[in-house]
Amino acid sequence: MPTRADSRVAHPAAPHLLDAVDRLLEPWCRERGQGAYRLGQIRGWLFARRAADYQAMSDLPKTVRDELAASFALWTTSVARHTQAEDGTEKLLLTLADGGQVECVLLRDRVRRTICISTQVGCGMGCVFCASGLDGLERNLTTGEIVEQMLRLQLLLGPDERLSHIVVMGMGEPLANLDALLPALEEAHRPDGLGISGRRITISTVGLPKPMRRLADSCPRYRLAVSLHAPNEQIRRQIVPVGEKISLAEILQEADHYFDVSGRQLTFEYVLLAGLNDRPQDAEQLADLLAGRTALINVIPYNPVAGLPYRTPSSATQQSFRGILESRGLAVRFRHRKGDAIDAACGQLRRRTLSHSADST
Ligand code: SF4
Repeated sequence: MPTRADSRVAHPAAPHLLDAVDRLLEPWCRERGQGAYRLGQIRGWLFARRAADYQAMSDLPKTVRDELAASFALWTTSVARHTQAEDGTEKLLLTLADGGQVECVLLRDRVRRTICISTQVGCGMGCVFCASGLDGLERNLTTGEIVEQMLRLQLLLGPDERLSHIVVMGMGEPLANLDALLPALEEAHRPDGLGISGRRITISTVGLPKPMRRLADSCPRYRLAVSLHAPNEQIRRQIVPVGEKISLAEILQEADHYFDVSGRQLTFEYVLLAGLNDRPQDAEQLADLLAGRTALINVIPYNPVAGLPYRTPSSATQQSFRGILESRGLAVRFRHRKGDAIDAACGQLRRRTLSHSADST
């Protein structure tokens, strides 16, 4: 695992290479009389050969490695915590250069190796059940900080393991930071990047109509997961405060547009909260709302967060909710809660660490 010390030779104000690999390296290579071959070599080390630092790029001349290290920061974060669960889930809490913290997760499921990445420090959407939103939004992450999460998680894999899926469902609202996210996902998708197909990359949104339209019209190659969490406006307003200004009808219209343009099956996320949105009539209403769509409903039984009053519905309630949706012909998946023991729900590890530091100061 690389540490901040790896980039110590670069000037503190040196550009972050992962912010814009081609834009930074093309002129750098040209100035040194080295062409596309060298650029490809460095890209290969970054994305496919999992170099932990510049010195690991062993077929580059030593002078080139040293100059790279002096010119560009490779890692701008440090690992504040690394936790592992028995089911193979690993979670990193990263401290950014300005002291902010974000989380990212590696999930292992049979041959799948899925990473879940963050796009903002904190979140401004304020979903009442979520640890990430409790302290509001601090700032957007840069492209480099998003790519860095991918590469750090990739470094956790064994030699026989390969990243297969990315979900942009960590801390933050991804569509509120599209300018940084799209170039980062481009690196994930490119054959000379991580080489992950757009079908295997899912962007989650709480449902922001304008950026949903922008994504549909500019880059519809990814899968879209829309977090509804409610079957009607009244419950939505209670759970997702941003929903006060955005109607479910607007969100569904933009989701349908995305489906029309991308041809990708939509996912609707629904966090099941005991006593709030888990009644039989809620399931019926949700089925009415989504009827006729080529969509998967991803129901996530709530993962309790310390300090919040929400609870996980009983197994019987979960079964009943599922049964109603299935009886209405909808494609339903109950997401298995991996990594519970390590606070895998977004924002929990960061909050726990922040509150521990607050307790100890
Ligand atoms: S659930 Fe997602 S959108 Fe809602 S507050 Fe948490 S991080 Fe933000």
